[in-house]
Amino acid sequence: MDWKTFLSAAKGLFPDDLFLIDAEDCLRYGSDWTKTAGTAGLVVRPRTTDEVSEVLKLCSQMKIPVVPSGGRTGLAGGAVARGELVLSFERMNRLSEVDIHGNTVRVQAGATTQAVHEHCAPQGLMWPIDLASKGSCEIGGNLSTNAGGLRVIRYGMARKWVVGLQAVTMAGEILELNRDLEKNNTGYDLIQLLIGSEGTLAVITEATLKLTRFPNHSWVMFFPFESPRATLDFFAEARRGPFEILAFEFFSKACLDIVSARLNRQSRLGHSSPFYALMEVEFPVGREDEVDQWLGMMLENRVVSDGLLAKSESEKDQVWGLREGITESIQATAPVKKYDVSVPVRKLAAFLEEVERALKQSGLGIELYLFGHLGDGSPHLNLVKPAISTMEQFNQDCAEFEKTIFVLLKSYGGSVSAEHGVGILKKHWLTVSRSPAEMRLFRDIKRVFDPQGLLNPGKVIDL
Ligand SMILES: Cc1cc2nc3c(=O)[nH]c(=O)nc-3n(C[C@H](O)[C@H](O)[C@H](O)COP(=O)(O)OP(=O)(O)OC[C@H]3O[C@@H](n4cnc5c(N)ncnc54)[C@H](O)[C@@H]3O)c2cc1C
Repeated sequence: MDWKTFLSAAKGLFPDDLFLIDAEDCLRYGSDWTKTAGTAGLVVRPRTTDEVSEVLKLCSQMKIPVVPSGGRTGLAGGAVARGELVLSFERMNRLSEVDIHGNTVRVQAGATTQAVHEHCAPQGLMWPIDLASKGSCEIGGNLSTNAGGLRVIRYGMARKWVVGLQAVTMAGEILELNRDLEKNNTGYDLIQLLIGSEGTLAVITEATLKLTRFPNHSWVMFFPFESPRATLDFFAEARRGPFEILAFEFFSKACLDIVSARLNRQSRLGHSSPFYALMEVEFPVGREDEVDQWLGMMLENRVVSDGLLAKSESEKDQVWGLREGITESIQATAPVKKYDVSVPVRKLAAFLEEVERALKQSGLGIELYLFGHLGDGSPHLNLVKPAISTMEQFNQDCAEFEKTIFVLLKSYGGSVSAEHGVGILKKHWLTVSRSPAEMRLFRDIKRVFDPQGLLNPGKVIDL
């Protein structure tokens, strides 16, 4: 790309501090959490939607490819650049006053998820998308990936919590979608089309987020289990318990060990188990006895053998800390390949058993670290590099075993990505989850929005 020509065309149209061209900045803004090799050719950091629109217009005229970039916590490589112009939203982080009549808040795309949470909390309201990366990921990234997170079982995915979207097409056209209406049955729903499109159709500049009240009273429970099947048997019982389930997460012993070591914490359970589940439940104040009795019954009937109950905020935070620290702890310990698959909950135990069996039989020596959102049918399979393998060997072995995972997934009617998205890492496996007819429509839709193929090229699908 001839960036000198681009910068001289841009001169006078934009403030000088909009652009970063330094090699270190280009490396930083061109790569993400996946550590896939990437670099930007040029970084642009606009402050307003008009600036975004003008930049995209100029890029369209000059045929410059653009990669939209949020907090770069993505786990599918969607924000990785290979020499393109990177459009960062980090300066577009304004939060408007919470609308207490509509229970909504208008925010710019670069606001972090945590900043939105903190902004709304004084009104007793929350945007219920909660994920361990919340301190860094941005609303634009959350919507572009249709983020899931820790409370999907109760609140659903990000797409349920948006009533208005401002987006800019590659041609620079500014779209004001839905104008914050709760009800609007007038034609195609473009907001829902853009959510989850991973920056391949248009860029998101602002959103009006729908808010809800905090759960009024919750307890966090932590139980050991012998297997995912036993964990799911308990989950089926819990679905009929005297509470609403806010979260149902699980992790294997390997994950607990690694996160406990990193946080320097000892387990307060009497003995160790192959698997653990964290369940947060909500119920009205005054119903504590009912929940206690239910727990007693679970122990009596041997559905669970042991457990911890966290009632105070600090106890709850401690238990949640174990779950939320897993991704970072694994990443800090060894190279890892992550698969955020999903299968129907009723088939999950059989699927996980088959994956474990296949890995053992493969003799590759790769360790499987299992954790994730069990209640949503969305486990994260983490293949961790054995110390004796070279990086090259590990990559080869994972590429081989990946085929087994995806063939199995297809036979279980699952998806190659529950929530992290397709990006570049799962693009070649998209047909496991999508039919030829769907793939054809995907390409047609992409051509309508971005006929020159300049927006986040090579991500999700190839034209
Ligand atoms: C520790 C950790 C825990 C995580 N836990 C979860 C979890 O529980 N659930 C979950 O769903 N994800 C999880 N993730 C993944 C990640 O945080 C989410 O995918 C998040 O939504 C990405 O947001 P981001 O701002 O970092 O986006 P980025 O990584 O910057 O970008 C992601 C995609 O969105 C596009 N994009 C970014 N901003 C815009 C914009 N304004 N307009 C158009 N396109 C844009 C990019 O081009 C890219 O394709 C986790 C990641 C980490 C590191």
